[in-house]
Amino acid sequence: MNATPASGILADARAATGGAAEVEFAWQLMQELYPICRSITGEGVRATLAAIARHIPLRLTEVPSGTAVFDWEVPREWNIRTAWIRDPSGRTVVDLRNHNLHVVSYSTPVRTRLSLEQLQPHLHSLPQHPDWIPYRTSYYREDWGFCLADRQRQALPPGEYEVCIDSTLAPGNLTYGECVIPGAVADEFLVFTHVCHPSLCNDNLTGLALATLLARQLRAGRPHLSWRFVFAPGTIGSIAWLARNEAHLSRVRHGLVLGLLGDPGPLTYKRSRRGATEIDRIGALVLGRLDPRARCVDFSPYGYDERQLCSPGFDLPVGRLTRTPNGEYPEYHSSADDFSLIDRGAFRQSLRACATVLAVADRNAVYRNLNPKCEPQLGRRGLYRSVGGTQPAGFEHALLWVLNQSDGRHSLLDIAERSGLEFDILVAAADALLGVGLLEACAPTAGGDEP
Ligand code: ZN
Repeated sequence: MNATPASGILADARAATGGAAEVEFAWQLMQELYPICRSITGEGVRATLAAIARHIPLRLTEVPSGTAVFDWEVPREWNIRTAWIRDPSGRTVVDLRNHNLHVVSYSTPVRTRLSLEQLQPHLHSLPQHPDWIPYRTSYYREDWGFCLADRQRQALPPGEYEVCIDSTLAPGNLTYGECVIPGAVADEFLVFTHVCHPSLCNDNLTGLALATLLARQLRAGRPHLSWRFVFAPGTIGSIAWLARNEAHLSRVRHGLVLGLLGDPGPLTYKRSRRGATEIDRIGALVLGRLDPRARCVDFSPYGYDERQLCSPGFDLPVGRLTRTPNGEYPEYHSSADDFSLIDRGAFRQSLRACATVLAVADRNAVYRNLNPKCEPQLGRRGLYRSVGGTQPAGFEHALLWVLNQSDGRHSLLDIAERSGLEFDILVAAADALLGVGLLEACAPTAGGDEP
């Protein structure tokens, strides 16, 4: 087992100069996706998945409106063509063509004339940020509305306004996409990211782009684990996915929810509900060594799709990686979450963190020392320096740690935590010891918890 490195992804993640081409790829993909008017259903989601499918194979699932999924029901499909407000002089003052956030997502169709006073309850703005357009949705309550900059709202003259929202809410489907990369074993690593936000960069284009990049990198190699990337609308998408995949969840060995990966805030790993699974320990190890600003936070039933994946009936070993968490930066869910908020250096660090987490999960294993009584003679096997009397170098340290701890109970992750050595040097040491017959691999444990 684990005879091949994780697709070179570990080396890519470690390379100090690596990642520039990947970041440019991500920016191009995000620029392509930014103008698409996404919601939890509809053509915007399909167009988004089609764009991603040009880079990685995606299998689409269409779940019909009205389908019962646990305590929820898949809503009608929403599509929109135009939306605008004309002021008393007939001038168009708000137009969906100028910004996708101008219309409340899932607005019912409307075409009417009304006074400014009657229009006001349908308008949304941010007085504390008068130039930003807020992002508002009305998925599960029939309503219509417009979002606009507060400075513009305050300048609207009294009089009769004309409003038009040319939308449809009709029986259709909820769409999600999956990219499955088979590995040497059937145990899966599940990567989940949401696809439902229109014209917002950090939330959620960075998650889409980063998941696409990771899937592309994994496909280029021969991973040990099988990988499943799910691109689904937030909340209802993960609920629908869980409802359709309940019989197969025992194969989920680890999972990670991705989003908010381009803002300049520190990397944040949110633990699974179980709190001490293998992925939680990997998240802590990788982030702790990558950036002293990075932090690990406990699970809470608030956030993204970890709310469903870590609900008590599933309790999957799924953590979440973001930079600044949802709701904790002022630009969150507003037009200010655009390309000016996200930073190439921050995104690149997020990519390195994710790639390293994935690589550690892919290569973590338990071995047994086949020569456990005293140290074996490494020099005779070409693995140790011939001149004695100095401190062993890093690789030799790694050989000694792997030999000492590999008693069939301690994984490479355990050894990385205890020794302070880099995970990839321990992998290299284990491979070298396997090569000279001093180690054997033990059967993996199931379910995400360490033995
Ligand atoms: Zn969001």
